[in-house]
Amino acid sequence: MTTYPHLLAPLTIGDLTLRNRVVMGSMHTGLEDKLWDMDKLAAYFAERARGEVGLIITGGYAPNKRGWLKPFAAEMTTRLQAMRHQRVTAAVHDEGGAIAMQILHAGRYGYHPLSVSASAKKSPITPFKPSALSTRGVERTATDFAKSVALAKKAGYDAVEIMGSEGYLINQFLAARTNDRTDAWGGTAAKRMRLPVEIVRRSRELVGDGFPIIYRISLLDLVEGGQTWDEVVELAGELEEAGVTVFNTGIGWHEARVPTIITQVPRGAWRSATARLKEVATVPVCASNRISSPEMGEDILASGGADLISMARPLLADAEFVAKAASDRADEINTCIACNQACLDHVFVNKKASCLVNPRAGRETELILLPIRTSRPGRRTLGGTSDAVAAPAAGPSDVPTVAVVGAGPAGLAAAVNAAERGFAVTLFEQAPTLGGQFRLAMQIPGKEDFAETLRYYTRRLDVLDVEVQLSTHATPELLADFDHTIIATGVVPRMPAIDGIDHAKSVSYADVLSGKVTVGRRVAVVGAGGIGVDVSHFLTHDPGDTDEDFYAHWGVGDPALHPGGLTERKPRSTVREVTLVQRKATPIGIGLGKTSGWAHRAVLKQSGVTQISGAAYDRIDDAGLHITVDGEQRLIECDHVVICAGQESVRDLYDAVGGHLIGGADVAAELDAKRAILQATELVAAL
Ligand code: NAP
Ligand code: SF4
Repeated sequence: MTTYPHLLAPLTIGDLTLRNRVVMGSMHTGLEDKLWDMDKLAAYFAERARGEVGLIITGGYAPNKRGWLKPFAAEMTTRLQAMRHQRVTAAVHDEGGAIAMQILHAGRYGYHPLSVSASAKKSPITPFKPSALSTRGVERTATDFAKSVALAKKAGYDAVEIMGSEGYLINQFLAARTNDRTDAWGGTAAKRMRLPVEIVRRSRELVGDGFPIIYRISLLDLVEGGQTWDEVVELAGELEEAGVTVFNTGIGWHEARVPTIITQVPRGAWRSATARLKEVATVPVCASNRISSPEMGEDILASGGADLISMARPLLADAEFVAKAASDRADEINTCIACNQACLDHVFVNKKASCLVNPRAGRETELILLPIRTSRPGRRTLGGTSDAVAAPAAGPSDVPTVAVVGAGPAGLAAAVNAAERGFAVTLFEQAPTLGGQFRLAMQIPGKEDFAETLRYYTRRLDVLDVEVQLSTHATPELLADFDHTIIATGVVPRMPAIDGIDHAKSVSYADVLSGKVTVGRRVAVVGAGGIGVDVSHFLTHDPGDTDEDFYAHWGVGDPALHPGGLTERKPRSTVREVTLVQRKATPIGIGLGKTSGWAHRAVLKQSGVTQISGAAYDRIDDAGLHITVDGEQRLIECDHVVICAGQESVRDLYDAVGGHLIGGADVAAELDAKRAILQATELVAAL
C-alpha cells in the first residue's frame, strides 16, 4: 500500500504505458545545443530515469533555424541529428524510462536576427524585432514541425511535446496581442488557431496513430491581448480532433508581469486552471507549475484535477524524487525551493543549468561522489556510482573521520555528502538549531520553502548516522583527532563604520529576521542587496495576506471574463513605512536574479517602499538616519535603521586549526547558498 496511489499508478497514452504519473517537464539545460554535450545530457536524463520518473520531456528543439532560441541552438531537422539522439533515448530506455522530445519554435523570443513571428512585433524581453512569416512561410513552418516530430520518433523518442505555451511562436499566433495577420492564419480566433491545429494534424499523418503527441496548451497567457477561456476550450477541441494524445499545460508568457513559478507563488497556484481544462478535455491532462511535493501531486490527481503531474525543477533538485516517494522515503526528498538561482537564472544568461540544492544536476559525469569503502552494503551514493569503484575495503575502526564545523548550507552539504561517501562524520554547530543563514532566509514572506532544505538535511543527517553536536563551540582540542576538518563557520552581518552605528535604533538584519528585535513603524534599511530587498518585503508585508491575495495583488482574474486572465491589481496593504537606501547610483535591485528580480522590484513598488540610490551615510541618531544625496543633506525619520550591508567571514577557528574552508567563512562577499553548497560538494567529492 503506497501513500501516493494516484501518483504512482501507470497510465497508457497512445502506444506508450507510463510507469507512473510523474512527468519531468521540459526545461532547457544548455546541454541540448552542442554535440559534445550529448553524453552529459544522456547521463542527466538517465539518472532521472533511474530515479523512476514516469516520462521525461527534453528541453526545446527547434523545427527550423528561424525557430532557434539563440544562434546555433538545438534543432531537430536532419536524420543525422536524429541518429545522434539515439544515445540519449537508449540511455533512458536502459534505465526503464520513457522520454519525449519537445519541439519548440521560439518565434519572437528567438535571441537572433533571423527570428520570425505571426506579425513583426518585437517582444519586450528580446532586442530583435521578428519578421512576419509569409503565408508560405507559415505553411513551411507547420510542415517543419511535423518533420521534426517524425525525426524524434526515428531517434527513439517515445513521444513528442509540441510547445504551444509560454509565449513562443504558436502562442504568438494564437493571441490577438501578437497576431495582426489578415491572411488565413490570423484575423479571427478560428484563423489564429489554425497553425497549432495544422501542426498536430500534419504530425499525426507522419507518425501514425499510436505515437503520443503531447501538446502544451497555454491556459492563462497573463498578458494583455491574451486568449479568452472560450478560445482555449475551442482550441483544445480542435487539437483533439487533429490527433493530440495528452494536454500538458502552461501558465503565463515569458514577458508576463505576473510571477508563475518563483518561490513567492503559492504552491499549486495554477491547479484550478488545469482542473477547468480537465472538465472539458477528452484526453489526459497534465498539471504543471509550482508543484514540488508528492503530496501536492497526489492531491491534484485524487481530486480529479489532472491525470498527470509535470515537475521540472523538482527533478533537478532530486533525481530520485519518485523512487523516494514510492519507497516511503518522501521525507528524504531534496525539495526544489523555487529560487531559480542555479537553473533558469543560468539558462537566461547562457550558462548551463544546475540546481542550488543539488549541484550535481547537469554535472552527472563530472561531480561524482564515489564511495570511499565497500564494506557498508546497501548504501547508495548520489548518482548510483557505488558499484563503479571498488576502493580498498576498510574495517569499521579505520573509517576516515571528518569534522564539519558550522551547520549552515555549506556545512550541511559537506556533512551529508561526506557521510554519503562513507566517512564517519561529526557536525558541530554553535547554535541550538541547524540552518545558519538559511534559517533567516526562510522568514521572508514567500521563502517558506527554504525550510524544506533544512528538513531534507536534518533527515539525511539522521539516516546517514552523522553525529550532530548542537550548541557546541568547536575548539582546536575537539578537532584534533579528525582525519579531515571542514570549516564552515559562516558569517556575521557587517556593521559599517557609520557615525552612530551603535545607537539603539541601529539593528542588524539578523536580529530582525530572527525575531530578536521587533522594529517600529518607520524603518530605514541600509544596503539594497538581496537581503536589503528581502528585509524591506518582510517589514512591509501584511501577515494577514492569504494565498488568495496573491492573485489579487498580481491582477490574475478569470480568463472567461478577462482575456489572458489579467485584471486590475488590488493594492497591497503594508504595515510599515520603509525607506531602502544604497550607495550605488544604479537602480535598486538590478543585481538580483534575472527571472525573479523584476518581481522583487515590483513588490517593493507595490508596497510603497521609498527607494534612494547614490546616498552617503552621515550618521544615525535619535531623529533617524541622516544621508547626503546629490550634495543635499536629508533626514529619514525612523524608529529603527536595519543594517543589510553584507557580511564578514568568521574565520577564527580556521586560523587556529586550518583544514578546508568553505561557504561564507571562505568568501563572504559572494555569500550565497548556491556557491556554498557547490563548494562543499566539490570539496567532499575530492576528499
Ligand atoms: P549583497 O548583495 O552583497 O549586498 C550588500 C549591500 O550592502 C551592497 O549592495 C552594498 O550596497 C551595501 N554595502 C556593502 N558594504 C557596505 C558598507 N561598508 N557600508 C554600507 N553599505 C554597504 O549582500 P546581501 O544583501 O547581504 O546578500 C548576501 C547574498 O545573499 C548575496 O550573494 C545574494 O545573492 C544572496 N541573496 C539573494 C537574494 C535574491 O536574489 N533575492 C536574496 C537574499 C540574498 P552599496 O555599496 O550600494 O550601498
Ligand atoms: Fe529549484 Fe532553485 Fe534548484 Fe532551480 S536552483 S531546481 S529553483 S532549488
